[in-house]
Amino acid sequence: MSEQVRRRRAFITGITGQDGSYLAELLLGKGYEVHGLIRRASTFNTSRIDHLYQDAHDEDVRLVLHHGDVTDVGRLTYLFQWIEPDEVYNLAAQSHVRVSFVEPEHTSNVTGMGALRVLEALRMAEVPARVYQASSSEMFGATHPPQHEETALHPRSPYGVSKVFAHWMTRNYRDGYGMWAVSGILFNHESPRRGETFLTRKVTRAVARIKAGLEEHIYLGNLDAVRDWGYAPEYVEGMWQMLQADSPDDYVLATGVACSVRDFVTTAFDHAGLDWEKHVRYDDRYLRPTEVDELIGDPGKAARELDWKASVAGLDLARLMVDADIARLAGGPDWVDQPSLVDWPVHPIGR
Ligand code: NDP
Ligand code: GDP
Repeated sequence: MSEQVRRRRAFITGITGQDGSYLAELLLGKGYEVHGLIRRASTFNTSRIDHLYQDAHDEDVRLVLHHGDVTDVGRLTYLFQWIEPDEVYNLAAQSHVRVSFVEPEHTSNVTGMGALRVLEALRMAEVPARVYQASSSEMFGATHPPQHEETALHPRSPYGVSKVFAHWMTRNYRDGYGMWAVSGILFNHESPRRGETFLTRKVTRAVARIKAGLEEHIYLGNLDAVRDWGYAPEYVEGMWQMLQADSPDDYVLATGVACSVRDFVTTAFDHAGLDWEKHVRYDDRYLRPTEVDELIGDPGKAARELDWKASVAGLDLARLMVDADIARLAGGPDWVDQPSLVDWPVHPIGR
């Protein structure tokens, strides 16, 4: 890595996830040197970022991956001391609400305590980076929409509770230690890269497979919930904008458009010329002990102060994601079809 030009350095936890992959693309496009934290896994877990691969032996490599985990504060402290990032995006999480009921302790450790470790590691390393914390509309839980930055928090899942802990820790490090740390309170945002067990992607992937004759049915839980679904690439732009502001503050990113699970499902099947009622079956295993009935965000503050606005919402997203899953199944050009890369050269031993 060239030391002659001091590029802006970003550090992303959760770089292998949906948002991390779009954010890495965005920052590389802006000329950043991007460092990502990845977990060691027994199989490759970099499929969302393989297309960004750079040969570590080349000059001027701008994307570097580091093994680590947000449960390991020593590793985080070391990496911050060594990399000296200008911006840190904490996106790592056990991010599935239903799974958080099954694994509440693990979720709290990663999604809640993980954020504290990132903040504390930066403090111990004495690195004055700007920090972005991935807060979530799930923190609002039972409070009525529209939800905005001042709305009372009433989480309804171990995931939501963990995000509240992380959210308030971020605020406390900002107030108490003067850290330039912000929370983006993001409403659901989706894309063709969304994990296959979240509602939107589960549906659009099934639509493509049913259309292709590979399967006949999909099993879903509560169709009555209402969400404010936006498009992930637009949301990572908002994350970056929050860290470019003159002073640190928290922002809601949302479309403001309400969409029920049933409407999303109907539109996705319609778009492929299928009748959803012939293919969707009910399975109570997909219910949650406590559901969040209605999340509809008020993104007014982000519009006023950051000039950020979502342009893709709910039903358009359903159509976009169905098209992408159909194209992917047909073997069309798609991010996921980039040549499968062999072992990413993470940083040499000792680093
Ligand atoms: P994903 O589930 O797609 O990605 C989560 C990332 O966290 C993955 O890179 C995962 O690694 C990593 N991770 C999980 N556990 C650990 C750990 N112990 N140590 C280090 N890394 C870990 O989430 P999204 O990209 O959708 O979301 C990004 C962030 O934004 C998350 O914090 C999420 O909770 C939050 N958020 C998301 C919303 C959405 O609608 N997408 C809405 C609001 C907030 P691996 O690939 O190895 O599993
Ligand atoms: P969440 O809003 O973070 O919980 O995102 P999800 O995509 O997991 O769920 C969105 C909504 O879809 C929730 O209200 C779920 O209860 C509902 N839902 C209904 N059936 C399913 C299903 O089979 N899987 C998932 N993940 N959600 C479902």
